[in-house]
Amino acid sequence: MVNTAYALVTGASRGIGRSIAERLARDGYTVILNYHSNTSAAEATKAAIEAAGGSAELLPFDVADGKAIEAALTAWDAAHEGAHISVLVNNAGIRRDGLMVFMGEDDWHDVLHTTTEGLYYITHHVLPAMVRARKGRIVNIASISGVSGLPGQANYSAAKAALIGATKALSKEVAVRKVTVNAVAPGFIATDMTADLDEAELKKNIPAGRFGQPEEVAALVSFLCSDEAAYITGQVIAVAGGMG
Ligand code: NAP
Repeated sequence: MVNTAYALVTGASRGIGRSIAERLARDGYTVILNYHSNTSAAEATKAAIEAAGGSAELLPFDVADGKAIEAALTAWDAAHEGAHISVLVNNAGIRRDGLMVFMGEDDWHDVLHTTTEGLYYITHHVLPAMVRARKGRIVNIASISGVSGLPGQANYSAAKAALIGATKALSKEVAVRKVTVNAVAPGFIATDMTADLDEAELKKNIPAGRFGQPEEVAALVSFLCSDEAAYITGQVIAVAGGMG
């Protein structure tokens, strides 16, 4: 148990998070699959990882709820004495698009909270053990929307820009402790989140001429979590087919 390397992926039941979890399991991590409410999707992800010879655990909590995060991670610590989480992928996120003039306050707060509460409470909980171990990887899944800004996404762009700012600041705090912190900025990736979008229209503005696949994001996350990426920190790397 103590020698097991654990990776926590938030929003791992579906989409990009599921692909990242499957990839990190292939890399040898026991993956802790966080999700919000879709237990059947999370169980399907766990089953796929186990069918491929990997190892995974379910850890549902709402990343927008600091108390729920603390309770879940404290219970995890108690059940895994002597172990710690050495890879954290802050992936869970939502979008509630709309022009600012029409945007309700719930759409503003829900999108911001879902990104920033989890970023603070989860990172704050797992970071001390990484620092003590002189080894750790944190990857924050941002978006090109947080780099360039996209119309209709002031809330989402603000949330992702916050993630990017925190990534850069934290990377400088912990680099000497051999903990790296990077952000990945996907463009349009084919998941449930983008299922309502007009791909035929949008891909006209994507230099690569297509939406990306979750596996293409997961491949970069896998590399950033590897020993080979030890000297890469504080970066924002786009996986966007040339956008941004
Ligand atoms: P998705 O297909 O909608 O999946 C969202 C995942 O996040 C699900 O596992 C969901 O859990 C979980 N989740 C949502 N709210 C949560 C909460 N409050 N607490 C815990 N888990 C929560 O999304 P995706 O496209 O894979 O996106 C993953 C990340 O990539 C997000 O941060 C998104 O902003 C970012 N991103 C996506 C794209 C894209 O084009 N798809 C582009 C740029 C950035 P349940 O299954 O339980 O609901």
